[in-house]
Amino acid sequence: QAKAKGRNTFCFYTQALTKAAKSRLTVESHLRRALENEEFEVFYQPQVGVESGAIVGVEALVRWRDPDHGMVLPGRFIPIAEDTGLITSIGEWVLGRAARQVRAWQSAGLPPLRLTVNLSPRQFLQPNLVQSIRDGLAQAGLDPRWVELEITETALMQQGSDAPATLRQLKDAGVRLAIDDFGTGYSSLSYLKRFPLDTLKIDRCFIRDVPNDSSDVEITTTIIAMARSLHLKVVAEGVENRAQLAFLRLQGCDVYQGFLFGPGLPAADLESLLKSGQRLASNPGTRR
Ligand code: C2E
Ligand code: MG
Ligand code: MG
Ligand code: MG
Repeated sequence: QAKAKGRNTFCFYTQALTKAAKSRLTVESHLRRALENEEFEVFYQPQVGVESGAIVGVEALVRWRDPDHGMVLPGRFIPIAEDTGLITSIGEWVLGRAARQVRAWQSAGLPPLRLTVNLSPRQFLQPNLVQSIRDGLAQAGLDPRWVELEITETALMQQGSDAPATLRQLKDAGVRLAIDDFGTGYSSLSYLKRFPLDTLKIDRCFIRDVPNDSSDVEITTTIIAMARSLHLKVVAEGVENRAQLAFLRLQGCDVYQGFLFGPGLPAADLESLLKSGQRLASNPGTRR
């Protein structure tokens, strides 16, 4: 009986795997087509000053408008793009597109914004990474000092990367550097003082249950205090309610990002938001 059950389980998994492999292949070939046909789009999620309530920057988040499946979120295609190496071309496209957009907003006289762009682990290993970023920003006409690159701890610690040298060259190119999803990757903190970083982004899994969960309160408080003592800017990800924001303000967090202010938006919608001058400060007296 156990054997029969085992075989059924086996059959089930083989079927599931075959299906997954097929869908992977399909996604891969569709991704190649998507690059050629420019089916990608950049959404912009506001980053908001905790004290000022004003938009101080935007994170570029890629979306894929698949003609057959509509809007596809990165969770469904970034891992496949990463495995196949397509992520490098996608990443370069996102940087160029977003940099031209932010540059256009600056030229239109809107309040200056910082642009944050995600760098994938695979991209981080590319020998021509720094040159491609320099070129992309030069072509877009955006001064690198407005740009912050987000890198995960896993990307920094992966085999085959000379992270300290790459980070140094990126700093020399004039961009700022952020650790994304901080707290979910590597347990060693020693890299924080060895690497030329500017910003820590606290992963949203720690923010979700503050101020109610006492361990999350402890972890978040500690991360913010540590970042401040290392002179790093702190950004909280995934802020969805006012209680979280009030807590972050009390702890001295600099910037937040999350559905409380708003999700990633198409360029036109973000532009309307910028023009409306909408604010959402942590001060409970302030209304949106
Ligand atoms: P990430 O860089 O940590 O980006 C933040 C993700 O959290 C985004 O998901 C955003 O929509 C979501 N988010 C923001 N605020 C909230 C909130 O209040 N609550 C909740 N539940 N979620 C929130 P998205 O756009 O689906 O992107 C997922 C991940 O895909 C990103 O995580 C990033 O790792 C990757 N990604 C997105 N765009 C790019 C890109 O252009 N290049 C690379 N290499 N990776 C990208
Ligand atoms: Mg990010
Ligand atoms: Mg993140
Ligand atoms: Mg994340």
